[in-house]
Amino acid sequence: MIPILDSKRQYAQIGAEIEKEVTEVLRSGSYILGKHNKALEEEMAQFIGVNYSVALNSGTDALHLALRALDIGAGDEVITVAFTFVATTEAVGIVGAKPVFVDIDKDTFNIDPMKIEAAITPKTKAIIPVHLYGQPCDMDIIMDVAKRHNLYVIEDCCQAIGALYKGKMVGSFGDINCFSFYPTKNLGAMGDGGLCTTNNEQLKNRLTALRNHGGAVRYYHDEIGVNSRLDEVQAAILRVKLNYIKEWNEKRRKNAYFYNELLADCADVQTPSELDNTYCVYHQYTVKVPNRDEVHKLLQENGIGAMLYYPVPLHLQKVHEYLGVGAGSLPSTEDNTKSVVSLPMFPELTEDEQRTVASTLIDCIQKSKSPVCQA
Ligand SMILES: *Cc1c(COP(=O)(O)O)cnc(C)c1O
Repeated sequence: MIPILDSKRQYAQIGAEIEKEVTEVLRSGSYILGKHNKALEEEMAQFIGVNYSVALNSGTDALHLALRALDIGAGDEVITVAFTFVATTEAVGIVGAKPVFVDIDKDTFNIDPMKIEAAITPKTKAIIPVHLYGQPCDMDIIMDVAKRHNLYVIEDCCQAIGALYKGKMVGSFGDINCFSFYPTKNLGAMGDGGLCTTNNEQLKNRLTALRNHGGAVRYYHDEIGVNSRLDEVQAAILRVKLNYIKEWNEKRRKNAYFYNELLADCADVQTPSELDNTYCVYHQYTVKVPNRDEVHKLLQENGIGAMLYYPVPLHLQKVHEYLGVGAGSLPSTEDNTKSVVSLPMFPELTEDEQRTVASTLIDCIQKSKSPVCQA
């Protein structure tokens, strides 16, 4: 079995270092908003190239609190994609705003920047570009549209920590930008975690208050907040792992390019394309194949932990029925949800495993074409 992700291999590399740091936290008696939190916020701000970062309990909270900090709520519209994890639009719903879906570019899997302008109405307050699978969105066009229409930009960087667009880190373009440290992400905690980045001091202060019951001073509360603090154990773990993220992302890229090579001669497989002048960090390695559902099933039966991200686009999920965005309205999004499959991808994946994945994929596609010959 070759899994989509094997976290144990990473732990084998850095476990001793983590255990030392965690033990120190456990013995220290300081478990919430302590020195590791502060240090992680400084280190992340420096890593991303922004003035501030605010550590939180999840990527979902990062998106939710970013919207709150920008005073986006009932009656407002937020432009984003339907080809993403549900948390992106869930956050919009939590604050009472309405997600407005723009179709994706069928090759990059990201928001089609040329289609944003047509979706803008007088109610539009923000754009949430999602850097899906670790591939940066076309930020020049997005920032330009946002500027001309006076809209906020909230980057969803949950899958793209360390990715670069024209030499600049994702998470440094928008007004507030959101990261997740869910264990399977490129920089994963050993529990939940998230973070917002911003260059704006007032927004940093607002986020810091919102995450801790809506007040900057203990027991003085200015507005309704939440409890979304990142605990010290997770912050300490993340600080250890942050030292490795560049190396791990490099390995993911190397693996992606090796897959590209292995699959280059198979006309049925569309390998990922990259925008020029970007550094993709391959949170997922996602290809498009014919007979996707059958191929996916065969891959699983043959010991390849292939996954579907995402099988149902968000506009066709029950939770968004109320929006009335029917089937057929986002053609590239809908086509892609029917043709994508993500292959095992993590830094420690070996070349031998990749060869097995690639040859099994090619076999499965062949088999899917001639089901009668299978027996
Ligand atoms: C993981 C993810 C989130 C949510 O992050 P959590 O930490 O799981 O709450 C949001 N958006 C995208 C694109 C994600 O991949």
